Amino acid sequence: MPLQAPSLKGHEFLAEVLRRVKESVEVTRVGDDYYEFLKYPKVQLTVSIPVKMRDGSVKTFVGYRVQHNNARGPYKGGIRYYPTTDLDEVTALAMLMTYKCAVVDLPYGGAKGGVQCNPKELNRDELERITRRYTYMIADIIGPYKDIPAPDVYTDAQVMAWLMDTYSQIVGKLTPEVVTGKPVALGGSEGREEATGLGVAIGAREAVKALNMGMKGIRVAVEGFGNVGSYAALYLHSWGAKVVAVSDSKGAVYKPEGLNVPALIEHKRRTGTVLGFDGAKAITHEELLHLDVEVLIPSAIEGTINAKTVDGIKAKVISEGANGPTTSDADGVLREKGVFVVPDILANAGGVTVSYFEWVQNLKREKWPKEEVLSRMEAKLVKAFQDVIGTARKYEVDNRSAAFCLSVERVCEAIRLLGIWP
Ligand code: GLU
Repeated sequence: MPLQAPSLKGHEFLAEVLRRVKESVEVTRVGDDYYEFLKYPKVQLTVSIPVKMRDGSVKTFVGYRVQHNNARGPYKGGIRYYPTTDLDEVTALAMLMTYKCAVVDLPYGGAKGGVQCNPKELNRDELERITRRYTYMIADIIGPYKDIPAPDVYTDAQVMAWLMDTYSQIVGKLTPEVVTGKPVALGGSEGREEATGLGVAIGAREAVKALNMGMKGIRVAVEGFGNVGSYAALYLHSWGAKVVAVSDSKGAVYKPEGLNVPALIEHKRRTGTVLGFDGAKAITHEELLHLDVEVLIPSAIEGTINAKTVDGIKAKVISEGANGPTTSDADGVLREKGVFVVPDILANAGGVTVSYFEWVQNLKREKWPKEEVLSRMEAKLVKAFQDVIGTARKYEVDNRSAAFCLSVERVCEAIRLLGIWP
């Protein structure tokens, strides 16, 4: 099955991120030199990945690892498998990781990886061979105190297990702390799987609270029903919200009385799609974005809320599960409409926050219970939410600019204190 190309091309996505960083450097007056410094990633690595396919042929894939900045700590960020992934997209995402980790005040820098492939057309053995060869090719630049990968779009705990095993074989010792988002049986953290979606749901809940609305019965539409969207929907449903629509790569379903989210998750697990769910009507992606709902959760891919789709949006709150779902022209329209946006680098930071807890547990050889992991994550996100709202007031800017201003200030402070050597 072909996977759709994001409406935002890699170089456009990168330009968007840079525009936001430039604006924050200006607003915070940290000094223009910092923009020039932050404009380029420290390291960009492109690798070729020859893989034996199931029919005996050899296919060569291209992969990337981009390390943007490590002033605040080792590089950190996921790896995505997607057909249109390119160097500019991965660079933009690495930059977002730098600022995301700074917003939630984690001692990490930002990185991202990607392999240009269509995971829907690959079998498990091919995925394993791609992962192991990719890991082998980036092994020199990753490591527990250098750069710690994690899952992202179409990668999961199993992929992280292969990555960890390959890296461990190369360095000659079992090294679980080189990667996060591993299976719990291999040193993964309790709660990591649901962390990003829960964080996105917490972002929506805090926004709803800030608008003096209650959670009971509010209508929610969720775009994207992968790891992030499904857990966000599940938590919002369990808190009394009415999840009326969800979509995946094959289409969208709508039920005005509210979907039974646990049953829908089971349906998707069984059939591979949300389509055909009992009592739900099939609608288009665009119709989902334009539904009359209080909360919209874009958790698919970058650029889905853009100049073409933004006008019909009726939601009062948007909590961004995906990285970069909203383009800057769409952002302007949302601002005029008065939509309360919880920006990606804040809303979806629950995942990397629990990744950090996983890394700490690995380094200390500890295992924390799920409740402890998730309540620590919640405390960090709520604090970051308040910091961002405070920054928005201080500089009289919107939430997204505020999240960037706050993180740019933190990153620049670290760069300044480190100085330049050699
Ligand atoms: N890929 C996730 C993100 O974009 C998680 C990164 C991590 O846990 O390191 O935030």
